[in-house]
Amino acid sequence: MQNNNLKFPEGFFWGAATSSHQVEGGNHNDWSEWEKVNAERLAKEAKTKWQKWQQEKFPGMFNPENYISGKTCNQYNLFNEDFDIVKSLSQNAYRFSIEWSRIEPEQGKFNEKEIEHYREIILALRARRIEPFVSLWHWTLPLWISAIGGWENKKTKSYFLRYAEKIIDSFGKDIKFWIPLNEPTVYVGMGYVIGDFPPQVKNYRRGNKVLKNLIKTYKETYGLIHKKLGEKVMVGNANNIHYNIPYDKNGFFDQLAAKILNYVRDIRPLKWTVQYEDFIGLNYYYRDTIKFVLGGGRFGLIDIKNPNDWVSDLGWNICPEGIYHILKNLKKYKKPIYITENGVADKEDISRALFIKEILINIHKAIQDGVDVRGYFYWSLLDNFEWDKGFWPRFGLVEIDYKTMERKIRKSAYEYAKICERNGIIL
Ligand code: BGC
Repeated sequence: MQNNNLKFPEGFFWGAATSSHQVEGGNHNDWSEWEKVNAERLAKEAKTKWQKWQQEKFPGMFNPENYISGKTCNQYNLFNEDFDIVKSLSQNAYRFSIEWSRIEPEQGKFNEKEIEHYREIILALRARRIEPFVSLWHWTLPLWISAIGGWENKKTKSYFLRYAEKIIDSFGKDIKFWIPLNEPTVYVGMGYVIGDFPPQVKNYRRGNKVLKNLIKTYKETYGLIHKKLGEKVMVGNANNIHYNIPYDKNGFFDQLAAKILNYVRDIRPLKWTVQYEDFIGLNYYYRDTIKFVLGGGRFGLIDIKNPNDWVSDLGWNICPEGIYHILKNLKKYKKPIYITENGVADKEDISRALFIKEILINIHKAIQDGVDVRGYFYWSLLDNFEWDKGFWPRFGLVEIDYKTMERKIRKSAYEYAKICERNGIIL
């Protein structure tokens, strides 16, 4: 008989994720500076960067203001309101990041008021019985760090460790789940290889140096957190992993190209840190269809040729079963896994509820196959500032009116809440 009630393991964490620069508002860091210089350019480039249907649906992309994070969702001031929403949606966990540039705006000068602010956030979550999952770095840098060359400078590791220690000493005992760094590979890919993100470098060698520095920093932060807080806390990386399929599923070279890209882009960096991960954080968004080409591909002999089937507002290929294959592949590491990000840009909320349900069915299937998945965080709780794309992509379970800061819970959020509440899916 078919089981129509898919139950998740007891104690499963259900939540949503955000990051400081994307939701807080009022940040002063390398990104806020970069936005000022690049907003006009990004608005102009939208004409060639996005397809016709996207340009028509999101005319906001032609407005330079779209690319200035400014107040974004003002979560810095409205966090209590947001956590009431999290609670009302039956979620029991929340992932967010601490903004280094607020804590240490000048080298060695820690801002106690801002430390107090994040302590309040942790307490506000705890008071509502929402488990905090805390990232220490989600891509943005204090200006004094970017001035010395960011992660290209070896000293940045020691500065980061000093900042991490300050957080641990200030309110670390209230945090059980730690994510030192968010997606080092995407940071390097976007900032140092493709060059769309600050510091807009297109140099593989420099990117490699940054990645190595980030990996070392991750490992040492892992050691520091355990040294100070003992063995009970859980520390993991948030790893972005794509689902790659060959363009010609029987073609030898396309198959090989898909495997190589998977290894180089996602699995090899994971292997560098996995023995230092108490849990694997998995960020999964989309499927890439990979083709072998004779030169001129996005990655040399390898290119991405995605079909236009089920796509998000960003044009990303939606593929819920991808997460099943990725999870099965991660089983061999024998670690607990938390899905630290997964979501879809869908302004009209047409696909989101179905997307979440299908993703969760696939996660459940992996759990049935023995993969130790212990939590799921939808990206994102709120519509927010989507980096170099600005405000037009709408990932939120909650819609934001950026003029009034009004929060409006989307229909799909209520569907997700039903799943969270019953810790399961009724088919
Ligand atoms: C990042 C988020 C981002 C999301 C959607 C993830 O790679 O961690 O900051 O908003 O993707 O692009």
